[in-house]
Amino acid sequence: MTTTNEDKDFSHIDYTECPICGNEAISEIVHETHEENIQCHSCGYARRLSIIDGKLDMQEYVNFGCYKVQMKGSPTLECGSFTSPEAEQAFVELINNLGDKVVHAEYSRYINEMIETTTVVDGEIHKIQIDE
Ligand SMILES: [Zn+2]
Repeated sequence: MTTTNEDKDFSHIDYTECPICGNEAISEIVHETHEENIQCHSCGYARRLSIIDGKLDMQEYVNFGCYKVQMKGSPTLECGSFTSPEAEQAFVELINNLGDKVVHAEYSRYINEMIETTTVVDGEIHKIQIDE
């Protein structure tokens, strides 16, 4: 008898097109809770579909942006979506407070059909824009 990872999988991860910026977004279906999450690491678009009290519930976060950060000693970038207008400023303050514990930090949002990425290096802010 063979077993596949699929049997044990808590969730199924796939890729889908982001409805906001058109880049590749991550789609995750959580089998146990019947949730579907979509998250775009280019513009920060995030959506969660779930069933609450028998009703379909949708939470959607559009245009708050997203962040990527790599901490000293960590092999990976940590990514996430901002879910409020205040989150971007709070992120910049956090990165500045962490100082040299941070190897790389950036945040992006979708503006005028472009992804605008801002990197935070030594407390200084550098903006770059990438055409779609
Ligand atoms: Zn997007």
